[in-house]
Amino acid sequence: MLRVGLAMLQGARHEHAEALRGAANELGVEVEVVECRRAEHVHDVDALVLPGGESTTMRIASQHESLLEASFAWMEQHPDRPVLGTCAGAILLAAPGNGREPFVRVGIQRNAWGRQKQSFEASVEVNLATPKASFMEVDAPPRDRFQHQPLAVQSQVERVIGDGFPGVFIRAPRFDPAVMDCLPAATLGEEIVGVIDGRKLALTFHPELTVDRRFHRWLLEQAADVKGATS
Ligand code: GLN
Repeated sequence: MLRVGLAMLQGARHEHAEALRGAANELGVEVEVVECRRAEHVHDVDALVLPGGESTTMRIASQHESLLEASFAWMEQHPDRPVLGTCAGAILLAAPGNGREPFVRVGIQRNAWGRQKQSFEASVEVNLATPKASFMEVDAPPRDRFQHQPLAVQSQVERVIGDGFPGVFIRAPRFDPAVMDCLPAATLGEEIVGVIDGRKLALTFHPELTVDRRFHRWLLEQAADVKGATS
């Protein structure tokens, strides 16, 4: 049983929980999604997801329960355990602040595509050792206990070319390739939109808003690998 922490900071958290369950289903592994609301929830997880949202709000909102600090401390204690940071989560990985060394060594600029209106969808090329897209689950995921229903963005899937990933960019940040000491994991033409540093994956888009579970499967596979090696 893999325990995957989901930092309940702000943003598309429930979609990530659904995506993790879907990915576990596709891989035939058991997963417990640990909704991390307080610092102590983080300490024993095998992997962590830092969702999108508004990174400034996330930093401020987490001060009270020190969830973000606890997440960073967990990453420092377990540098081999995998982390998926999406959009604002990628900003937190690349620029954790408070004098901390970045967890993914790349420059990042917030809101660098422009305003909300400049949010867009595009087919992203994935360069990551992970199985290809599988679109087994195209039904709308069920509502959670907050009556919140994750989006099943099927229309995008149809528009994606070949093995492309349906990239949803919402007030997305941009990586600075001039300040990059890790590998590209996803590209949009010339633009690097995903980077991988060890087992930390930072994406400027929102894979949880699609039905393609590739990145969530990658996270679970990495977690299983690490766990298998240590137990
Ligand atoms: N614009 C947000 C920020 O700077 C990120 C947007 C997102 O996570 N979708 O934190």
